[in-house]
Amino acid sequence: PPVLIWLRRDFRLSDHPALHAACATGSPVIPVFIHDDPVDALGAAPKWRLGLALENFQHRLEGLGSRLILRRGAALDQLRELVAETGATSVYWSRLYDPASVARDTEVKAALKAQGVMAKSFGGHLMFEPWTVETKTGSFYKVYTPFWNAVKNRAVDAPLTAPSKLPAPDSWPASEDLAAWHMDVAMNRGAAVVRPHVRLGEAAAQARLARFIDESVATYDCTRDVPAVDGTSGLSENLSLGEISAHQCWHAGVRAREEGKRGAETFLKELVWREFAYHLMHHTPRILTDNWKPDWDGFPWNTDDTAAAVVAWKQGRTGIAFVDAAMRELYVTGRMHNRGRMIVASYLTKHLLTHWKIGQAWFEQCLIDWDPASNAMGWQWSAGSGPDATPYFRVFNPVTQLDKFDGNRAYANRWIAEGKTDPSPDALSYFDAIPRSWKLSADDKYPAPVVAADEGRKVALDAYENKGF
Ligand code: FAD
Repeated sequence: PPVLIWLRRDFRLSDHPALHAACATGSPVIPVFIHDDPVDALGAAPKWRLGLALENFQHRLEGLGSRLILRRGAALDQLRELVAETGATSVYWSRLYDPASVARDTEVKAALKAQGVMAKSFGGHLMFEPWTVETKTGSFYKVYTPFWNAVKNRAVDAPLTAPSKLPAPDSWPASEDLAAWHMDVAMNRGAAVVRPHVRLGEAAAQARLARFIDESVATYDCTRDVPAVDGTSGLSENLSLGEISAHQCWHAGVRAREEGKRGAETFLKELVWREFAYHLMHHTPRILTDNWKPDWDGFPWNTDDTAAAVVAWKQGRTGIAFVDAAMRELYVTGRMHNRGRMIVASYLTKHLLTHWKIGQAWFEQCLIDWDPASNAMGWQWSAGSGPDATPYFRVFNPVTQLDKFDGNRAYANRWIAEGKTDPSPDALSYFDAIPRSWKLSADDKYPAPVVAADEGRKVALDAYENKGF
């Protein structure tokens, strides 16, 4: 009898433990994707990007004589129907760790088992299962550095190789049509604007990893902070959808470290930040929705999404060049450099005294590398309310940060058109991307700061002191 492999965020063939195990049974393998409520709830850009991943992976599977069966509805209902239609006796999947997926998968597993179907979940999305990293007292880590020390020398197996073929069943169950799902419906600018910035699929992700390790990892420790330089791996969008495994990146990084490439250790540390985010989400799922440190409840954040300053922040019109460049980069490319993420998050939560959840939600709409754990951790880290967060009183100055990390203004000039006689194509593409209702034009005057760098610092520190911190 066939094995159903239920794919969710693991669109690759290599280093895929669940798929590997399915193939090892020697039975026919039926890959399935289910468009259920959690898929429906995705933000505009992540949903659009997921649609691209599905289309790409469909072709990949077809190339191996297989298929991707698409179904829409509640996961358990759909899996039960597929079990009945195909006679499958087992369902395998790669684990996810956000609370909604955990609740769903726990229910699915119990219900399938109760009807005699073997339901089995596998690792693969992470390098270290969150419950396998423990402090000496058997608790979880709340601070990054000891977490890093606990995992940095763990043995790494070679990644699993891709199956050369996927045994097909005698007959395939019916599949829905991906185009009819309209995964792009909320993403007005997807195809025209963001698509050229997407790195789609497993082959492209692997090629990028190889090139990054060859050309960039040696200097990554220095260049990773310079937003105008293509000095980081850019693999977060592929990691988010499992088009490459973290384990594959880790393995490549460890080899580079062994070869003496200086920046390799820093790269490994960044991969472990992703693990740490999942560790925190697993042990304290409230990180997604609430101040991780409850003493932040009652902090006088602005929670009005429509406040003029918040709108200016979203539109990249704060008058602070680093913030605006980064927000425009986000809107056009679906990505933002990590330095930019830290600056715009600091500016929103400190200078504009606005709740981190407003920023978290905007990123969730706009990022093609959106990841629930990293996004929540990043926002709470920036705001000061998170575990191991940057202290609230340490307020990034977006003006001196620009001098430090974009001294020649290559990044600011790439994204800001106003006032330039010869604006860059990227800066102009922003004005093609935005909705007409924003009523902005490249010929506008560049705005004065909504809150100036030093003024915002004072506002933030006053609020912090008034709260009695
Ligand atoms: P590289 O520098 O090449 O790093 C390699 C990998 O390590 C990344 O692909 C990523 O998986 C991981 N990584 C690096 N930095 C971090 C970090 N600070 N936290 C967690 N993992 C990290 N990352 C996301 O993948 N999705 C998000 O939704 C997301 N939201 C963020 C929100 C805020 C406010 C902040 C401050 C950071 C956020 N990050 C998020 C983390 C980080 O900015 C991105 O992972 C990074 O910019 C991706 O670029 P890269 O792939 O070139 O990273």
